[in-house]
Amino acid sequence: MGKLLIVGTVAFDEIETPFGKTDRILGGAATFIGLAASQFDIESAIVSVVGDDMPQDYLDLLVKKNIDISGIEVVRGGKTFYWKGKYHNDLNSRETLVTELNTLSDFKPVVPTEFKDADVVMLGNLHPEIQMSVIEQMNQRPKFIILDTMNFWMDHALTELINVIEHVDVLTINDEEARQLTEEYSLVKAAEEIHKMGPEYVVIKKGEHGALLFHKEQIFFAPALPLEEVFDPTGAGDTFAGGFAGYLAASDNMSFNNLKSAVIHGSNLASFCVERFGTKRMESLKKEELEKRLHQFKALTQFDIELT
Ligand code: AMP
Repeated sequence: MGKLLIVGTVAFDEIETPFGKTDRILGGAATFIGLAASQFDIESAIVSVVGDDMPQDYLDLLVKKNIDISGIEVVRGGKTFYWKGKYHNDLNSRETLVTELNTLSDFKPVVPTEFKDADVVMLGNLHPEIQMSVIEQMNQRPKFIILDTMNFWMDHALTELINVIEHVDVLTINDEEARQLTEEYSLVKAAEEIHKMGPEYVVIKKGEHGALLFHKEQIFFAPALPLEEVFDPTGAGDTFAGGFAGYLAASDNMSFNNLKSAVIHGSNLASFCVERFGTKRMESLKKEELEKRLHQFKALTQFDIELT
């Protein structure tokens, strides 16, 4: 069985969308990645940190999904990472209102011994030095390292971010962030620049407009499923990454063709995430629902055309 190691935030999120707002609820990059990856037949573990203000129920939820949480440090008297965001009417633009690093500020990650030989490492969004430290603790170089990041770390730790990007196989990033990182408006040129920084593959996420996979001269595009209900896009990018990484860990095939399937699985999972606030939809998601929507994805993108 493939092993997936996940690093990222386990957080409190407070979210406002045109459809309502939440109190502090469970969020965080590693949480969304873990929930998505738990849909595949793999062993997975999260490396993260929380304060003792994190309700046990939230941690139990991850355990119930078969995620090893021995790598989540609970700091006595510490406060959990907190993020507050607001979406505007089109749900595509989001404003970060508050980011409190709290226990994340001086977190030293410890990879559980049983996961030092993980096949796939998914470096979810957090400080690039923490991401690097996880790579350094592995027994050997994992078969595949995937990195996700966001503008916050480009603004606050660019040198460290560029350093860790050099060591990974795939960078997943959204379109705006790809432009910020490379100073290229064209996403094709941005992907070229990112290839030069190290990663052999680049995935550029475009929210409700799908995702692009780049591998040298090859490009693959997966649409996002047009949905009737979109409540809260928070975590969609992480859910995509979790589906992508979970599928690769389960299938143990890192070819371009298989990465295309991974992008579809990631997009499929993300399409569910946005249907409810926070992690709610991912908590109840069934394999049969995923399977059904995969058929819709296939139908959406298939066409016959005669070419000479
Ligand atoms: P996404 O919508 O997939 O881009 O990610 C949303 C999640 O990222 C939320 O659950 C937040 O807790 C988490 N998050 C927000 N800002 C940061 C940050 N600077 N570092 C790590 N995680 C973050």
